[in-house]
Amino acid sequence: MTELEKLRKKIEEITIDMLSLLKKRNDIAQEIGKIKNQEGMSVSNESRENELRDVVKRKCEEINFDSNSAMKFLNFLLNESVKAQSSESNTHLAIFLKAKELEQQGKKIIHLEVGEPDFEPPTSVKQSLSEVYDKGFGNYGPAKGLPEFRKEIANFANQNFDAKVDFENIMVTPGARFGVFLSITTLLDPGDEIIVIEPAWPAYRQCAINSGIKVRTVKTKLENKWEPKSEEITSCINENTKMIVLNYPNNPTGKVLPKKLLDEIVEIAKKNDLFILSDEIYSNYSNDEWKSILTYNYQKSIITQSFSKSHSMTGYRIGYVVSSQEIINKLTKLQALCLTNVSEPIQYTAMKSLNDDVGDNVKTIYGRLAKLQEICKEMELEFVNPDGAMYIFARTKNPINTSELCEKLLEEGLAIAPGIGFGDYNEFFRISACQDIKTLNEGMDILKTKIKD
Ligand code: PMP
Repeated sequence: MTELEKLRKKIEEITIDMLSLLKKRNDIAQEIGKIKNQEGMSVSNESRENELRDVVKRKCEEINFDSNSAMKFLNFLLNESVKAQSSESNTHLAIFLKAKELEQQGKKIIHLEVGEPDFEPPTSVKQSLSEVYDKGFGNYGPAKGLPEFRKEIANFANQNFDAKVDFENIMVTPGARFGVFLSITTLLDPGDEIIVIEPAWPAYRQCAINSGIKVRTVKTKLENKWEPKSEEITSCINENTKMIVLNYPNNPTGKVLPKKLLDEIVEIAKKNDLFILSDEIYSNYSNDEWKSILTYNYQKSIITQSFSKSHSMTGYRIGYVVSSQEIINKLTKLQALCLTNVSEPIQYTAMKSLNDDVGDNVKTIYGRLAKLQEICKEMELEFVNPDGAMYIFARTKNPINTSELCEKLLEEGLAIAPGIGFGDYNEFFRISACQDIKTLNEGMDILKTKIKD
């Protein structure tokens, strides 16, 4: 055997040993997952992960190994554990799918679990859909979107969000969800870390895990009005931290951060050279305190927006991203690869409705949220009055396991979202204000009786 062949053989043996160890580690992770499940514990545990980080750092010093590579490798292992222990059976989407199945079997279900407005899109949508054929919008087009649409979006952002952007800063996407996916997948590498402030819409975490990116969680509490502390954010930043996700008005809490706190978070991001992914899909359902991250003019920010909630166009699958030209160019490559371009007829339709007055939708949702708050107070539930969005995130005075509650409620004909889908919030549930007041009352009556049981 030559020297090269001998070395290759050694590498092969080490690789195989590592695989066996990985299998052993995953089996143990599964065992731990079972215990956590029995005890009602959450999958991720930041303090335990930090202990492991310290052990690994010390070992790196001892054996003189690059700690940055070691941390990335550790992040891969931690994500493997999270994958082995996670189940998606408790998200609002899972409840929605179960509810749909029951409906197929003839059961009547009141849907207070999804954030899908029940009102019609603006009537201009009907008009523009009928024009689109004759206008010839139906070809392959630029991956960033129709230039005239992008120009209109830039004007809209400058007027409504106090931004200073032009069409080069815009990319049209099939909904905000794809904008979030593109940003996380394109801008971060496996082993990098992303900060998510929980409770949070589950897709940030899921997109990160899907791309081998480690999620660092900052857990906020009802007692602190769902506000993160700047020190909590700073304390989980290290050399692998690349992005922080913001979502205000927040799904599920309805929180809008005070301006001073937002200023502090942006400062932290700038100081640590982090991307800010700001999902602003609920921006028009917000109080006066809200301001767009665009107002900071920070080059490493990415804003996702959508027609789903503002225009009640969920199924049209249309939204957009606002960012620096450099970032937009990076995201465009993956969008071109995945879907060539967003459907032209839908882009045309959204363009024609962009400036429509959707104020009535906002008033409708606010009216329903006010009603829900009234009922929740009567029921002595604990919650923070939402500053925006379309949800109430509440818990009972005596904590209950809401995953079990949601299953039981389905049998009674009510679907609500269990808190565990938004992070480690097993005693909370989310009720959405996307049904008329009569239906909301009916749903809340069912909830009242089940909570009493
Ligand atoms: N972001 C948040 C915070 C959401 O709640 C949702 C949908 N519920 C989305 C993004 C997805 O929006 P879209 O329909 O535009 O993909």
